[in-house]
Amino acid sequence: MNSLVEKAKNAAIAASLNQAWKYLGKDPETNIPKLLDMVDKVAPEGWYEGQRKAFHSAIDQKNNWYELIMKVWNLDEGVRDTFFQNFIVNASLSGSAIQESTKEKEGCNIPWAILLDPTSACNLHCTGCWAAEYGNKLNLTLDELDSIVSQGKKLGTYMYIFTGGEPLVRKKDIIRLCEKHSDCEFLSFTNGTLIDEEFCQEMLRVKNFVPAISLEGFEMANDGRRGQGAYEKVMKAMKLLKEHKLPFGISACYTSQNYKDISSEEFFDMIMEAGALFIWFFHYMPVGQGAVPELLPTPEQRTEVYRRIREFRKTKAIFSMDFQNDAEYVGGCIAGGRRYLHITANGDVEPCVFIHYSNANIRNCTLLEALKSPIFMAYHDGQPFNENMLRPCPMLENPEKLRKMVKDTGAKSTDYEAPEQVDTLCDRCTPYAENWKPQADKLWERDA
Ligand code: SF4
Repeated sequence: MNSLVEKAKNAAIAASLNQAWKYLGKDPETNIPKLLDMVDKVAPEGWYEGQRKAFHSAIDQKNNWYELIMKVWNLDEGVRDTFFQNFIVNASLSGSAIQESTKEKEGCNIPWAILLDPTSACNLHCTGCWAAEYGNKLNLTLDELDSIVSQGKKLGTYMYIFTGGEPLVRKKDIIRLCEKHSDCEFLSFTNGTLIDEEFCQEMLRVKNFVPAISLEGFEMANDGRRGQGAYEKVMKAMKLLKEHKLPFGISACYTSQNYKDISSEEFFDMIMEAGALFIWFFHYMPVGQGAVPELLPTPEQRTEVYRRIREFRKTKAIFSMDFQNDAEYVGGCIAGGRRYLHITANGDVEPCVFIHYSNANIRNCTLLEALKSPIFMAYHDGQPFNENMLRPCPMLENPEKLRKMVKDTGAKSTDYEAPEQVDTLCDRCTPYAENWKPQADKLWERDA
């Protein structure tokens, strides 16, 4: 009964938000403040209170967040409206309500987003990446991708994120999926080199696809890893996307080598100038045969990244997420279906894009069955893995937890190239975890 009332309440809020969105389109600068006042009067007590306050202060102070809101406003109108409907209303509002009730009914985690590898293939040959060597051997068929999305929607999941390999090697199928599931938002990690005029036109047509382009830093660092000319191609892709008023973001992995560059003011300014609306930072993970523990940032380096990103949030008109240091905003580790899960090009359903252990393959079970598989239930029962949100991961910062979960559940390695024993992986992470702990505890106590 409660969930019916919740659903009705959410449907009413969604309908009002849609009306309000249309009203805003006429004159956003004047209408946004008016609308926020209206929302304050009718919103249930405590409803997205923090977000509403942040919006108010952005508008009042005309600060960097205001600038970002206006940048979103100036996107292609159809794409912007679809983003609002699919991301805000379907994925985050009505979707979350369905996820919550399914979670309660089924007794397992239900994800907000599903990460999918359409293919293991890639068009580049980046140092340290297996995809180029592994080639075109593994693919999820279009029917399989379609079935995953259809099953996900029944659980309340309206957000799908492609990773790989290079997902845009399969761009035709990706566009077909966007067309068929026009009520979902699709995002893709990509090296950016396959974004051309024709693809931009397709993005404008389907309206529900957003790329997150990977960058390692400036030209030298990027081409050093991805091959000569890759950086220039990315610049060209960003220029095209900006010209077409299409939304896009950047994904950047920080290591002991590039952390200074990619958390620098110059880098932030460069990507904002290029038109990026968001940047997602990932901490280097020492996973698999090609792992290089020397690339792990030291506690001082990680702290510097943590501080710089938080500083730039106050001044730069870009939405930034630092996945390893921002766990406090999402209550710790989001894997194991708590907020997301990952399905490989081989069909293996993994708790996280970095955790290559599984008991379930989507070719032999339903999505819901995978969510109830032993390692997913171990995540469900074990989260959060640490009270200190600067030590959220059962692998990187709490390797004993992953070791135990994999052993207790009998989850098998899903690594395409060379299966890795969980002991090998966890032994590699232990020195990092021990080294980071004192600094993380100090930072958490002081800043929490
Ligand atoms: S398993 Fe680790 S890397 Fe994956 S979401 Fe959880 S904290 Fe992040």
